[in-house]
Amino acid sequence: MIFYSTNRQSPDMSFSQAVIKGLPQDKGLFFPKQIPVLPASFFEALPNLSLPEIAYEVLSPYTAPDLEVEQLKTICEEVFTFPIPLVPLQDGIAALELFHGPTCAFKDVGARFMSRCLQAFSKSGSPVTVLVATSGDTGSAVANGFLGVANIEVVILYPEGGVSDIQEMQFTTLGQNITAIAVRGTFDDCQSLVKRAFSDEELSKEMQLSSANSINVARWLPQMVYYFHAWGQWKRQNPDATDITFAVPSGNFGNLAAGLLARQMGLPIARFVAATNRNKIVPEYLESGVYTPAPSVATIANAMDVGAPNNFPRILELFGNDYDSLLQVVKGFWTEDEPVREVIREVNQEQNYLMDPHGAIGYMALKKYLPEQKTAGIFLETAHPAKFKQTIEDIIGTKLALPEQLQAFLNKPKQSISINNDFSEMASVLKEQHRVKA
Ligand SMILES: *Cc1c(COP(=O)(O)O)cnc(C)c1O
Repeated sequence: MIFYSTNRQSPDMSFSQAVIKGLPQDKGLFFPKQIPVLPASFFEALPNLSLPEIAYEVLSPYTAPDLEVEQLKTICEEVFTFPIPLVPLQDGIAALELFHGPTCAFKDVGARFMSRCLQAFSKSGSPVTVLVATSGDTGSAVANGFLGVANIEVVILYPEGGVSDIQEMQFTTLGQNITAIAVRGTFDDCQSLVKRAFSDEELSKEMQLSSANSINVARWLPQMVYYFHAWGQWKRQNPDATDITFAVPSGNFGNLAAGLLARQMGLPIARFVAATNRNKIVPEYLESGVYTPAPSVATIANAMDVGAPNNFPRILELFGNDYDSLLQVVKGFWTEDEPVREVIREVNQEQNYLMDPHGAIGYMALKKYLPEQKTAGIFLETAHPAKFKQTIEDIIGTKLALPEQLQAFLNKPKQSISINNDFSEMASVLKEQHRVKA
C-alpha cells in the first residue's frame, strides 16, 4: 500500500517508510491511497474466524509488499494472544472488552503490532531508539509491547508525579530495553522534549530515532481488527441483527478513525458515536461545523483529556472532507464527570457490571442514541477499571482487586532516571543509554 499525507505536501511512502517515519514532513497524517473492500465471503466466514485470522485478512492489503505473507501471519499470532470478548449487558447493549492485554488497555493492540513491524523494518546492526512521551497509558502499552524486542531501545518520558502509581509501575519495573525518564515538569513539557529530539541534528546523526505515538499507521490500522471481531461475535450472539451502533470513548480519535476505516472496508456498521468528556472539541464540531481546539481540561477519564485530537484529519479524510457525509455516520456526545460517577454506580448495582470511567462514557453515549435509533449497540471498554483504582473505589465504596496482569508489577523495584525539564539533560541520557546498548 502507498500512503499519502493528508496535507499533500510530502512525498508518498510505502508502509515500512510510513512506520519508520511516523509523521510526514508536512505535519499531515499518513493515509492509505486506496481503501480495499473485503469480499462477501469474508463477512460470511467472519463469525468463525480467530483474531489472528481476521487481523491477517484485514491488514494484509496495507502491509503488502513490505511484510511478506508469513511475516504478517506470525506478527498477527504474536500480537493477538489475548481475548477481546463482546459481553452482553442488557437488551441490545454489549461491551467490547479491550482490556485483557498485558497493560489492561486497548493501546496494547497497536503498540504490540507496531513493535513487531518496527523490528522487521529496522535493519540489523542499526538499533532504533523509540522515544515516547506519556501521560500514562501510552507509556505502559509501548513499554510492554516493545519489551525484549531485539534491536529496539525504548525511552519513555513522563511527568514526575503526574501519572497514577499503577501506570508508573508498568513502565519503570521492566528493565531490559526499556528506560524510563521522570521529567520535573508537565506532560506538555515531555512532549516538547520529544519533538525537539526529532528535530535535533546532532542526535539524529548519532542514533535512529522513531516515535510510537498514536498517529503511527502501525498503531492505527490494527485497531480495525477488533471492530470486525466484535461484529462477528454479535452475529453469533444475534444472528438477525443488522443495524449496529458503536460508541467510542475518544481522546486523540485514533480508535474512532480505525472503526470508520473498518466501515469503509465493508463492515456493516450503521453509525458511530464519538463520546468524550469535557474535552468536547469533536462533538462541538459535529454540532456547529466549526473546529476549535482548546487547552485540555482534567477529568476522571484522563486518557481522553485531549484538547487538540491528533487523528481528526483522518476522520475528515475518510469522508472526503465533507461535513454532511460525516454527520450521516458520526454522532457526538460529551459529559461532565458527575454523571459518569452516577452511571458507574448504577450499572454496577443494577447489572453487576463494573465499567471504567472511559467505557462508562461510551455506555452513556449509546444510551443517548439507542432509544431514538432502535438499533443494537456496542460500546468499547477501553481500559480495566482497576487501572483507575482510587477513582473507582471512591465511586462504588468498596475495594477493588487488581487483575493478575497488574499485580505482576507490584513488587518489582522501580527504575527511573529523574531529570529537569532540560533538553541537554535528556540528550545526555539518550546518548549514554545508546552507547551502553550499542
Ligand atoms: C487512549 C485512551 C482512550 C482514547 O483513545 P483515542 O484513540 O486516543 O481516541 C480512551 N480510553 C482509554 C482508556 C485510553 O487509554
